[in-house]
Amino acid sequence: MATKKLDLIPLYEWGMFTEPKPSVVAGPCSAESEEQVMETAKGLRELGINVFRAGIWKPRTHPGSFEGAGAEGLRWMQKAKKEYGLKIATEVASEKHVFECLKFGVDLVWLGARTTANPFLVQEIADALKDTDIPVLVKNPVNPDIELWIGALERLSRAGVKKLGVIHRGFTTLEEKKYRNDPQWQIAIEFRRKFPDMPFFVDPSHISGHVDYVREISQRAMDLGFDGLMIESHCSPSEALSDSSQQLTPAQLDDMLNRQLEVRNPDSDSPQWKENIHELRAKIDVIDESILAALSSRMQVSRQIGQYKKENNIAILQTSRWDAVLAKVIEKGRGYGLSEKCITDIFNTIHEESVEAQNQILSDSSSRQK
Ligand code: PEP
Ligand code: MN
Repeated sequence: MATKKLDLIPLYEWGMFTEPKPSVVAGPCSAESEEQVMETAKGLRELGINVFRAGIWKPRTHPGSFEGAGAEGLRWMQKAKKEYGLKIATEVASEKHVFECLKFGVDLVWLGARTTANPFLVQEIADALKDTDIPVLVKNPVNPDIELWIGALERLSRAGVKKLGVIHRGFTTLEEKKYRNDPQWQIAIEFRRKFPDMPFFVDPSHISGHVDYVREISQRAMDLGFDGLMIESHCSPSEALSDSSQQLTPAQLDDMLNRQLEVRNPDSDSPQWKENIHELRAKIDVIDESILAALSSRMQVSRQIGQYKKENNIAILQTSRWDAVLAKVIEKGRGYGLSEKCITDIFNTIHEESVEAQNQILSDSSSRQK
């Protein structure tokens, strides 16, 4: 579907983020008590954070989990705003939440992944935001559906929201993976290509699901040239009532942001910026990962075929079949501007590996015939 250009106000004109990159929104997954909000906010203020996040209404996967402090939590955030001069941000999932936020002087709201996936809710929120000036960030939906994400942005844009940006928080997958939510960076890159002017945040906390990986995801976000990070930070992570394994202490966040993270070329006005070498290399890394994943899926299917051949006593190699495959990929490759030699070399190597895997299956006496 063709994407319409949205009417956007640049990030640095929102009145809460300043150069250089990254723009950071940090704070606990949830506001839990006045003490926890104030202590975390103080720690974050001291390390230079300007925008403080906390979930007030928590959309939990299972009932019975901590579902947020509700409007009372907004009072604590309001106090943190006043005492430490922070801007405050929270997630909204209904019209009622928007009205409460406006009442308590919330400076930025975001739509969570489960809300973006529901056009009825997005529309309700967009209608409630009409005639306000509050910045809105939209997390990607839980499923890797870029159109659903764009649709949510269009609804908000039509309601007049111009301080509009996105947060990439990864996608739910069924497979067991290293990270809690699969980053699928190629989707983020594709989104950026469609909307190069849309402020783009990455949420390394929800992507990684664990403090051990927050830094590498943040670094990847910087390497890919994204604008900002939304990071969960809690004064005492082990006691957190939600997402305890992925929250950094303010001191850990300080270390990561101010000492470990390498921020690439902060000169965002330079014409080279969008295509600088780090960004291009990071894109290559993402593509290489997709190639590896595709090769691995191909090998899995190839092994299944090997098993079938074994069960039906069929020879591994059918030369005519391979000739046909090769001819097809050479023809397709030509359409992609790839030379015959390149395709022949690559696919012969792939085929060799595949034959080798099937050979092993056929010669393996433990994989019994049915
Ligand atoms: C959150 O930011 O605390 C949250 C619930 O995130 P998500 O919507 O990405 O799951
Ligand atoms: Mn969380």
